[in-house]
Amino acid sequence: MKEELLDKKENGWKEIDEGRKNEIFEFCKGYMDFLGKAKIEREFVSEAKKLAEENGFRDVNSFETLNPGDKVYFINREKSMYLAIIGTEKMENGIHIIGSHIDSPRLDLKPNPLHEDGGFAYFKTHYYGGIKKYQWTAIPLSLHGVIVKTNGEKINVNIGEDENDPIFTITDLLPHLAMEQMDKKLKNGVEGENLQLLVGSIPLKTEDDKKIKDTVKLNILNILNEKYGITERDFVSSEIEIVPAFKPRSLGFDGGLVAAYGQDDKVCAYTSLKAMMELTNVKKTAVCILSDKEEIGSMGNTGMESHMFDYFVSELLNKTGENRVNLLDKVFCFSKMLSSDVDAGFDPLYANVSDAKNAGYLGKGISLNKYTGARGKSGASDANAEYVAWVRNMLEENWIKFQVAELGKVDIGGGGTIAYILANKGVDVIDCGVPVLSMHAPYEVTSKYDVFEAYRTYKAFWEKD
Ligand code: MN
Ligand code: MN
Repeated sequence: MKEELLDKKENGWKEIDEGRKNEIFEFCKGYMDFLGKAKIEREFVSEAKKLAEENGFRDVNSFETLNPGDKVYFINREKSMYLAIIGTEKMENGIHIIGSHIDSPRLDLKPNPLHEDGGFAYFKTHYYGGIKKYQWTAIPLSLHGVIVKTNGEKINVNIGEDENDPIFTITDLLPHLAMEQMDKKLKNGVEGENLQLLVGSIPLKTEDDKKIKDTVKLNILNILNEKYGITERDFVSSEIEIVPAFKPRSLGFDGGLVAAYGQDDKVCAYTSLKAMMELTNVKKTAVCILSDKEEIGSMGNTGMESHMFDYFVSELLNKTGENRVNLLDKVFCFSKMLSSDVDAGFDPLYANVSDAKNAGYLGKGISLNKYTGARGKSGASDANAEYVAWVRNMLEENWIKFQVAELGKVDIGGGGTIAYILANKGVDVIDCGVPVLSMHAPYEVTSKYDVFEAYRTYKAFWEKD
């Protein structure tokens, strides 16, 4: 009776054989390689485009008409991307959407970043997303992004990842002199304005040394001018992100975990993208969203709140010849979605913030969040029981290991994803992703077991009628 009635929550590793374990490790090797090349949204989009084209996907704009089986993608301003495989059934009966985000917490350069102080050159920054500022000091950091000149010329920047590149860092106070700092609240220990990147220390030698100020800064500008042909003003039209210069690595003697920057939410983005690459004939049109700006509220024309996604789905309706007045609304009202975003993994060192009965555990499979929000589910899209049952059925049919959790104890905190945005259009949505330790830290931790179960989940979802 116990066997039948209790909801057992076994560790997934215990239930698989050596063959499956090898398959998981192999899959995660691909994941870590990809992540090492795709630390920011623009890089993710460019790698995803390459992968998609290798697998027969083409820009939706290059199609006059679309037919079942056609594979398309749409890139929005190099920072977000949608992919689709046209199903055999009409879209008005609903489509199957999986949506993740490819932006991650980081530091962005201020519009006027470069200055000199005390013989050092610095880049001023403004942090992006929810970070614990102290975690970003005294670690190796790299620069990624673009500088766009007034003539439209675009310069790609990627410094600090190659072994031969220099890296950058933000200094912190030595403990010997940190008495005052250590007495502060943790959140005030490092001021936002002090998140300044150390970028140089050698002054430019000039004939007329005494009259020229800020020669270290000048030297940096000289180097940048020689290397990229840019001047100080060109930073105004740049988007440069500062991210940890760590490579994704296997973690632990048994190698069962992945340590990497940006796994929120690139772990769900990668696993859904990979699943889409392997789909062949689908009945329901399969759509994959890789969105930007989730970490700062999904605003702007590359965020999920924008109308870009509506435009993309309308294009699919136009090109399949199915469109008619107001059909888009109907499509959304009959569609299903997995909002594929990471979940807070249960951390035994901080067990007191989680309800052990309702937490997502590493190594126990994909984690469903029926709702997110904070303080009485505020701001949440709460999945309907009927839809949760449909998703459960899909998981059980495919022997996929899953758990149902919520983000921390009641009134401890909370969070959100892009789920509510699609739910507000009428789509049935549930949050469904990989549990993570140290979420939003420079080095985040996931279980390889869960990464693979995420991939299996997304594939099964798109394949279900
Ligand atoms: Mn996320
Ligand atoms: Mn996040």
